[in-house]
Amino acid sequence: MTRRAKIVCTLGPATSSEEAIAALLDAGMNVARMNFSHGDYADHEVIYHRLRDAAKASGKALAIMADLQGPKIRVGKFEGNRTQLQTGQKFVLDAGWTELGNNERVGLDYKELPRDVKPGDLLLLNDGLLTLSVDAVRGEAVHTTVMAGGELSNNKGINKAGGGLTAPALTAKDMEDIKTAMSFQAEYLAVSFPKNATDMEMARQLANVAGEPWRHRTQLIAKIERAEAIPALEEILKASDGIMVARGDLAVEVGAASVPALQKRMIKMARELDRVVITATQMMESMIVNPVPTRAEVSDVANAVLDGSDAVMLSAETATGRYPVETVQSMSTICIEAERADELEFDAGFANKTFARIDQSIAMGALFTAYHLGCKAILALTESGSTALWMSRHNVNVPIFGMTSQLTSQRRMALYKNVRPMLMPNFADRDEALANAESLLVANGVLVSGDTYAITCGEPMGHPGGTNMLKVCRVK
Ligand code: PGA
Ligand code: MN
Repeated sequence: MTRRAKIVCTLGPATSSEEAIAALLDAGMNVARMNFSHGDYADHEVIYHRLRDAAKASGKALAIMADLQGPKIRVGKFEGNRTQLQTGQKFVLDAGWTELGNNERVGLDYKELPRDVKPGDLLLLNDGLLTLSVDAVRGEAVHTTVMAGGELSNNKGINKAGGGLTAPALTAKDMEDIKTAMSFQAEYLAVSFPKNATDMEMARQLANVAGEPWRHRTQLIAKIERAEAIPALEEILKASDGIMVARGDLAVEVGAASVPALQKRMIKMARELDRVVITATQMMESMIVNPVPTRAEVSDVANAVLDGSDAVMLSAETATGRYPVETVQSMSTICIEAERADELEFDAGFANKTFARIDQSIAMGALFTAYHLGCKAILALTESGSTALWMSRHNVNVPIFGMTSQLTSQRRMALYKNVRPMLMPNFADRDEALANAESLLVANGVLVSGDTYAITCGEPMGHPGGTNMLKVCRVK
C-alpha cells in the first residue's frame, strides 16, 4: 500500500549517523529538515553529505528543507542556569541587565522588548508554560507580575499574546545560513516568523543570489507562527511556494484552541492557491519517550492528512527522541489507514476553475480524464515538477508519477501529496520519452498489460513550463 501524504523528519543528535539516516529513509522519510537553530557549518555539512549519499544509495527521492532560526526573542541566562518563578511574584525582564539572571530579574537576548510592550500586555515564556503580565516599562526594564509560574531556564523563548513583537524575520545569522543552505542546494528553505509578503520576498532575493553559483532555485516555505501572519495569509502564500502550519509558536500567540480551525483554513487556502502545506509540531510528541503514540496523536496525524496536508512533520520525535524509526513507521501507518478510509471524492471544484496557462490546463485535463476513465496512473513528464504540483492539488484517487530528468525536480516533488517522483533519462525525442516512461512503470510493476494511463508532456521536450500535450494510452 503506498502512502499519499509525505513525512518530514527533523534531524538531530538521535538521527545524525549514517545508519540512522538510512533507517529513517527506509521507514519512509520523504523530506529531511535541517534545523539551523542548532549546530555550526561543519555539523550541517556532514549531515548534508550523509543525506545525499543515503538517498542515492536507497534510490529514493529525498528533499532537504533548511529551516532558518529567525529572530531570537529570548531571555538571557541565569545563575545556576534556571530559576523558579512563583505565581503572584514580581519579575523584571531587563534589556540593560548584563549579569546573570536571578529570581528578580533577567537580561534579554531580544533588546527591543521594552519598545514592543505596554502595561497590560501578556508575555508567554517557554512555549506558553509561564505567563507574565506587564505592569510598567521603565527605561530598558519591563516590570511584570507572574500570572502563571514555573521554572524558567536559560534562553527560553518569549511570545506576546496577540502578536506585536517587531523583530525582523531575517537576522544576520539567517543571511549566512541561507548561503550555507544554497551551497547544499536545499530544495526547500523554511523562513521562521514571517509577518507579511515582504519578509518572504526578501528571503527569496537573498536565496536567489546565494544560489546563483549553483544555478539553484529553492522553494520557499513560510512558517505561519505569528499572529500577524494570519490576516496576511493570502499575500504570504502568494509570495511563497508553501507554508508550514507551525503550531508551536502559533499556539502561543493566538491561543492553542484557535489552532485547529486555523490549520484547516490554512491547508484549504494553500491548496487553492497551488501551494504546498506541511502540518507541524507535537504530532507524535509522546513518542519522544514512548514506543507507541497516544490515541490523540493518532487522531491528530490522521486529521491533518484528511485536512489535505501535503506532509506531516516530526520535530523532537526524530531529532532527539528515543524511537525515531518507530515514530516514522507508526506515522506512515496512520497516514495510509486515514487515506484508505477516506472515501476520496473527486473534488469537482476545479471543473469551474479558470486558468490562463496551457500547461495548467493540460494538467487539469489529465486529472479529469484519468478520474472518469478510471486510469491506473497519471504520468507527468515534467522539467520543473509544476505539472505534478498542479495535479496534486486536487483529490483524485489516481497516483501521479512525476517523471523528470532533473535531479532537483525529482527531490522537490518528494513533498507533493500523492506524487511519486521518478528520475528518467533526458530525451530530445517525444515518442522515445513516452515509450520510456511506460516501460519504467511496467518494469516497476505499476502498470500491466491492458491498463490505461494518462500521460502529459511538452513538445518540444525539455522546456520548463512547456507542457502542452495529453495522451491517453493502453499498455499492450
Ligand atoms: P520551530 O517551528 O520548531 O522552529 O519552532 C515550528 C513551530 O513553531 O511549530
Ligand atoms: Mn516556531
